[in-house]
Amino acid sequence: MTEPTHDEAHGGALGERLNWLRAAVLGANDGIVSTAGLVVGVAGATDDRSALVTAGLAGLLAGSMSMAAGEYVSVSTQRDAEKAALAVEKRELQERPEEELAELAELLERRGLSRGVAMEAAVQLTERDALKAHARVELGIDPDELTNPWHAAWASFLAFTAGALLPLLAMVLPPADRRLPVTVVSVLAALALTGWSSARLGAAAPARAVLRNVAGGALAMGVTYAAGSLLDVAGV
Ligand SMILES: [Zn+2]
Repeated sequence: MTEPTHDEAHGGALGERLNWLRAAVLGANDGIVSTAGLVVGVAGATDDRSALVTAGLAGLLAGSMSMAAGEYVSVSTQRDAEKAALAVEKRELQERPEEELAELAELLERRGLSRGVAMEAAVQLTERDALKAHARVELGIDPDELTNPWHAAWASFLAFTAGALLPLLAMVLPPADRRLPVTVVSVLAALALTGWSSARLGAAAPARAVLRNVAGGALAMGVTYAAGSLLDVAGV
């Protein structure tokens, strides 16, 4: 009886790690695209390095904090819902243990166990930790490993910042006449990499994902550069 639960825990941990990795790649991708759009737009309007640094840093901070806040809110909401569902489950287990045992056995039977084995498993799981068994089988959550909203917020903050640093540094470090080409080339190369990684992590075809991601970034930079140049021409 211990072997399958052990394997299941491994599978769950791997899935969890893949989700975090995917979220990190997407966060970095957001940081690259939005900051690249921003600094390329400003570069369309001015050669002033301090304006580029200011705009890039402000964009990096605004973006990473907005990502972190959004992630915090969304994970907190999910956690509240999970805690509420666990509280309901706990009450039901206290008030009508017999019905809950039958329910657990039925859920296990639906997963492919024969009636007798399902009942036996339900009895054993209930003896060991009834709430945990119901949480896993019925709600699909592990009460010991609810996602921490602060961890999720930090992870998005760091992922976005890591992505945003690339276009920011590519724009402000090289000499003025090489800023744009260095930024455009390094941003498109980085987007090819994040597109490829997220496709691999999601088991999708990499070629199309890379193309879409690179095209999206090129479009973002093209649009903001055109907007910046128009503002410059108009003397705003
Ligand atoms: Zn239940």
